[in-house]
Order: sequence, then C-alpha cells, then structure tokens
Amino acid sequence: MTTQKALELSQELIKIPSFSGKNDEVIKFLSDYLTKLGFNCETLEYEGDSSYPVNNLHAIFNPKKSDKTIYFAGHTDVVSAGDLSAWKNDPFAAEIVGDKLIGRGAVDMKCAISCFVAAVEEFLGNNPNPNFGIGFLITNDEEADSINGTQKVLKWMKENNYKITYCIVGEPTNPEKFGEMIKIGRRGSINFSVKIIGRQGHVAYPENAVNPNTILINLLKILKDHKFDNGNQFFDPTNLEITAISSPNFGNNVIPNEASANFNIRFNNEHNSKSIIELIEYVCQKSSKGFGNKFIASYEIEYKISGESFLSSPKFLAEIMIKSVEKICKIKPLLSTTGGTSDARFIKDYCEVVEFGLINKTAHQVNEFADLEDIFKLQQTYLDVLKNIN
Ligand SMILES: [Zn+2]
Repeated sequence: MTTQKALELSQELIKIPSFSGKNDEVIKFLSDYLTKLGFNCETLEYEGDSSYPVNNLHAIFNPKKSDKTIYFAGHTDVVSAGDLSAWKNDPFAAEIVGDKLIGRGAVDMKCAISCFVAAVEEFLGNNPNPNFGIGFLITNDEEADSINGTQKVLKWMKENNYKITYCIVGEPTNPEKFGEMIKIGRRGSINFSVKIIGRQGHVAYPENAVNPNTILINLLKILKDHKFDNGNQFFDPTNLEITAISSPNFGNNVIPNEASANFNIRFNNEHNSKSIIELIEYVCQKSSKGFGNKFIASYEIEYKISGESFLSSPKFLAEIMIKSVEKICKIKPLLSTTGGTSDARFIKDYCEVVEFGLINKTAHQVNEFADLEDIFKLQQTYLDVLKNIN
C-alpha cells in the first residue's frame, strides 16, 4: 500500500512546477503532509547574498529527543522543461505511460523525496516511537544558485541544536541500472577561460608579430598532456576537457591579436581549487613568456569554481545502505564519486552523507521519466535502511 503512496506523492509533487527559488506551494504540500505524520515542520525562508529568495523545509520527528538522527536531504526545484513541443507528454501532468511515470523532476528528484516520505510513513506505522530522530531537509534551490538553500538550513540547524548523525541525499545516482551505484563524494569542478594576447601582424613578417594561436595551442597541449594524478580508491584521475577555442579571423594573411580557450577541470580529493588555479596560472605564465621574440605575449585567466572535491568516508550509513540495496535490488552497488555536484558537498561537513536515488539517465532531459518498479524498490530500500538504524 505504501509503495502505492510513493507513486501518488510523486505525481502530486510533479504536478507542482517548482522552479528554483521561492515556491510556497511545493514546500507547503510537503510540510502539510509531514505534519500529519507527526513531524514538527518549519518553513525557512532565506534571501540575500546576491541571490533570489528561497523557501526551505525543516521537518523533524524525534519523540525520544534522541541525539541520533537520520535526515533525508533533497530538493523540490526542477530545471526548465525546455522545448515543450519535444515532450511526448505534458511535463507537469505526471502521466503514467506503461511502466513509467513521466514528468519534469521525476528522477531529479521528486520521486526520491516521495519514496522517503512513504518509507517513513510505513516505518512509523510499525515503530511509532523510534529510538532515533528522523528529519527532512528540503530546499527549493539546488539546481540554480544553491545559496539560500541547504547551506543556510544546516547553519540554522546547528544554531538551534538540531543534531544530524546520518544523511541520505536522494539525488539520482544510478547510471543505467537501479541499485548499481551509491555516491559518497564528488570531484570538484572549475571552468576556466584563458585569453592569450599577442601582437597582430602580417603572416609574411612573423618577426614583427606574436601569434597568440601558437601560444594557445602549445599551452593547451601542455595542460591536456599533464598527468594531474592517478586517481585513488574512490576517485577517477583528475581530467581536463577543452570546451571551446577561438580567435578572430582577420584574413588569411593576418596573424590575429588574441586567442581564447575554455576548459573544464574535474578534480579529485588530491587537489583543491587553489592548487588547480595556481597550476593553470603557472603554465599560462611560462607559455606566454617562452614564445615572445622581441614582443612578449600576455594572458588573462577567468575562472568559476563550481565546487570543491569531497569524500564522505564510508562508515555505518554507507554499510547499511549497501546491505539494503543488495537485499532489495539483488545487485552489489559500487561506491562512487562520479557525476555533477549536489548539496551533499555542504552536508558532508556535518555528518556522514550517502547519496542514493533513481537512474539519472533522463535527468534534465525532455521526456524525463522514472520506472514504476524503481520507485517501489527505492521506497523499499529507504525503508530497509530505517529498519537498520536502530
Ligand atoms: Zn538533483
């Protein structure tokens, strides 16, 4: 019955188009539902720090005032549906077609929230007085700025003495098959934009010019060939991907004045953003100097840090999550750190955090869908984890 509940709740949530930022309806829906289950709910609205206002939900059920708590963290916000004509079904109608639930936010990550709510409902039905607390940390801003969301709720929890011992984040973690992957960390990510400023001139008189294209190509070759590390037990090796190269085309006989490239670096826990940025600075400096004849090239670097790498060392929660996944899904999940960023990067500073959710293949795509069977299994997996917390 409660597995049916997970599906119904998923549909209700998908029918509320909740884009990043303030959305009273989606937070109120969850708050009302959890209040009925006996949770103490607080809507926390934050704004400022150069970002838009966001509402968040903190909900806690802890009848024995235990110091041990398990939280579920997730986001109700969804990315744009994109080109509506490319969808076979209305992205916000939450239609069931065959064995799939279609809708924006199905896998990322409204079904996971619903699965945890349904799991808690079933668990409390049989254990109305658990020895530990159960909490929800829900934000309506993970997909965009992530400034007035999870970070600020965690700070508020600390100030108000809400303990957090374990946390499950319901992001979709499985690449192909449900149950194959649990995440315990992430690589960091920085986007760089490098511009080489040379000296424009005639191709027949290169001695009077500094060709920025030559410098840039050499620089990119050095960076691409550089072995940052070999990876380690939980991380792939750090990797750089060039995403764009450009220079103005003034004609076949003109050496242009500048050349630019963009690249992204995904780095593991053997680096941090500071060490990566220093390395790029160093290579830019060396490369632009080495090529100067009587004129010296200069460079400009811009970068945006999307997130630092982190690892939440697998302990008790990872252990019981692995057992529950094995039991319900009949496959042994891999502990991984691949993929894009999530709010787990903030939570890891407070407690052990483990991410497990649906299959991420259709996240952010048109015709996003979740398999009904996976929704049922996810609800059962979360329930099994709750049973093993005691
Ligand atoms: Zn997500």
